[in-house]
Amino acid sequence: MALETIDLIRGSGIGEPLADAFRRPITYLRISVTDRCNLRCVYCMPEEGLPWIPKSGILSYEEVESIVRAAASVGVRSVRLTGGEPLLRRDLASLVERLAAIDGIEDISLSTNGLLLAEQVRALRAAGLRRVNVSLDTLREDRFKAIARRPGLDRVLAGIDAAIDAGLAPVKINCVVMRGRNDDELADFADLTRRREVFVRFIEVMPVVENAEDQRETYISAQEMLERLSAVGDLAAVDGPGGNGPARYFAYAKALGAVGVISPLSHDYCERCNRVRLTADGRLRLCLFGDYEIDLRTPLRGGAGRDEIAGLFRGGMLIKPERHHLRLGEPASRMRALSEIGG
Ligand code: SAM
Repeated sequence: MALETIDLIRGSGIGEPLADAFRRPITYLRISVTDRCNLRCVYCMPEEGLPWIPKSGILSYEEVESIVRAAASVGVRSVRLTGGEPLLRRDLASLVERLAAIDGIEDISLSTNGLLLAEQVRALRAAGLRRVNVSLDTLREDRFKAIARRPGLDRVLAGIDAAIDAGLAPVKINCVVMRGRNDDELADFADLTRRREVFVRFIEVMPVVENAEDQRETYISAQEMLERLSAVGDLAAVDGPGGNGPARYFAYAKALGAVGVISPLSHDYCERCNRVRLTADGRLRLCLFGDYEIDLRTPLRGGAGRDEIAGLFRGGMLIKPERHHLRLGEPASRMRALSEIGG
């Protein structure tokens, strides 16, 4: 966007709820607090890691708080902390506490791989965390090591238990389903939802640079997942546990939880998109895919106040695309790894 356009928007009426050019209300901000991760999932990050953002380039907690204050002033109500692995950031609970105190912020959630969850969940809960999504692609340790390239299944399962015990609700499990790697575990995950109040969301593997080679072979559509889930018991469509996110939910009779599917490839949720993202280095990212970004860090470090940052959010609404154009086996050009964008 031209700087002149951004200047025009800066002057416009701050305070109205954000809506984009397609009249979608934008009320949800996903914040990546670090690009680093303690796993190396095969579809996400190379084994040797990535060229990490230098520490000085990562937003401080004060800076994240300033941006969320600005976002709240234009209608953002819900924030999710993600990464990289957000629990690698020191004392994440203190960030949760800062964000929970901001007027207008009604909901704070976390996406984590769960490895460090058991030890931090009580402090996070006490600070104001409401709910958690734990990423888990397999219930078998040997496969966990093969997919995440590091051990740790027991710690993730302990993290899920600890989250339920601490009263976080809902607890969702995000499972990327891949043909030949974990697709024979759909029934085991489904069984988990019968016994425990968890919501397992099965996600189509998305094409990024890291998995461009084999994504065509491993891809399974949400439709096929649903057919296979229906084969192990009668499924009824149910409402999701709060929020209007991208998942469609279904439950087995008498189950305590539910299963869901998320289908980024078949585009079925862009029209309901209610979110924007903040990268760890302070860029407002308007769509998970495609390079629509606005630098907030430079103006913030240059002394921009709340209204100016809020104006940049408004400007972002003009370039938020109607939908992404993901295609099987074709990573979007210059696609950042999901660990950089915040998944
Ligand atoms: N470390 C945190 C976690 O594990 O939830 C947050 C970041 S992680 C990048 C967020 C989510 O993105 C995870 O559920 C992960 O499985 C998912 N993800 C990463 N690359 C993906 C891909 N190529 N296709 C589908 N999901 C992907």
